[in-house]
Amino acid sequence: MDRAMSYLQVDGLIHKYGDFTAIDDVSFSIEAGERLCLLGPSGCGKTTTLQAIAGFIQPASGRISVAGEEITGLPSEKRNIGIMFQNYALFPHMTVFENVAFGLRMRQVPRREIKARVGEALKVVRLEHKARNMPSQLSGGEQQRIAFARAIVIRPRLLLLDEPFSNLDARLRLTMRAELLELLEGLDIATLMVTHDQDEAMAIGHRIAVMRAGRIRQIGAPRDLYRHPNSRFVGEFLGESNLFPIQGLRAAGSHVAVDVPGVGEILAETPPDDLAHRVRYALVRPEKIRILPRAEGGAAAGFNRLNGTLEHATFLGPRVEARIRVGEMQVQIAAETDAVDPAPGQPVTLSWPVDATVLIGGDDD
Ligand code: ATP
Repeated sequence: MDRAMSYLQVDGLIHKYGDFTAIDDVSFSIEAGERLCLLGPSGCGKTTTLQAIAGFIQPASGRISVAGEEITGLPSEKRNIGIMFQNYALFPHMTVFENVAFGLRMRQVPRREIKARVGEALKVVRLEHKARNMPSQLSGGEQQRIAFARAIVIRPRLLLLDEPFSNLDARLRLTMRAELLELLEGLDIATLMVTHDQDEAMAIGHRIAVMRAGRIRQIGAPRDLYRHPNSRFVGEFLGESNLFPIQGLRAAGSHVAVDVPGVGEILAETPPDDLAHRVRYALVRPEKIRILPRAEGGAAAGFNRLNGTLEHATFLGPRVEARIRVGEMQVQIAAETDAVDPAPGQPVTLSWPVDATVLIGGDDD
């Protein structure tokens, strides 16, 4: 990536609360119009990163630039950043219009312009007709859209969203996610969103930065992270996975064979040299594994094959999740409903493409 072109550039950010280092050397960039999601478990430093960019806290060290201009020391209100935080509570005693107008009044924008710009922002969220309502007269989803209007009315260069769906029930979350995506597409603003929900991060982010314990562990397009996690942590955080602890690794034709104690041999694509000498796990996503009637003979070229016994299958409408005992391990698979005859005790063969085996080092459990 051309760093000179980055819209938001964060370099070597460190922040401590007392002795505790909440973010430790965090660096990343966002292009104009790009959406980046910071994803990670509770307490990993996502909000702290956002607060440093917003100017609510001053980092111990590091540098933040927007459009090539350093803003690290600027007071928050001079940064022209749109913010929608976890607790997006609207001011309950103000009308919708006044809530959205608030940031403009703070900036002493002339009255006539305030009227026009609030109108514009309410139009974006399709709630012009609610301008005179009080927040208590709005649904949760509507309140959230007003909070979004409040964030964009200042025409920010950058939008920071911290768990914007956290106050909503599961169904409304999905609806709002689709709506937010549509709004963001239309606005073409660089966006940084914090979430601990991997589905949300994958649905919204052009790229995802996975954080753990104050550090970014991997950053990339959702598809790349899901397919090629660089650690056990990232692999498991992004979705269901079978994790085979492995011992030896040897060349096997154009592939490598890894030995899984108590299970057998698994084929994988040849890893780069720097990974080859520290491989500890083979990860296989449940949906990559096909379940077949027990077959005799060797594996088809390019496929892995393991024999096992079906232990349990759960019917979930369009798909079945099944647990298969293979030697000393249980393997999870997710398959189309008709692919599995759910009779426990059945001998089965599992099959998956060699390139669906992801080899992972042991540095980051
Ligand atoms: P969550 O998803 O739960 O909001 P997060 O990833 O956003 O978590 P942060 O809010 O950035 O995490 O907090 C990072 C760490 O810093 C946590 O361990 C938290 O307890 C600690 N922390 C946050 N704010 C403070 C504070 N004001 N004083 C002391 N410690 C804090």
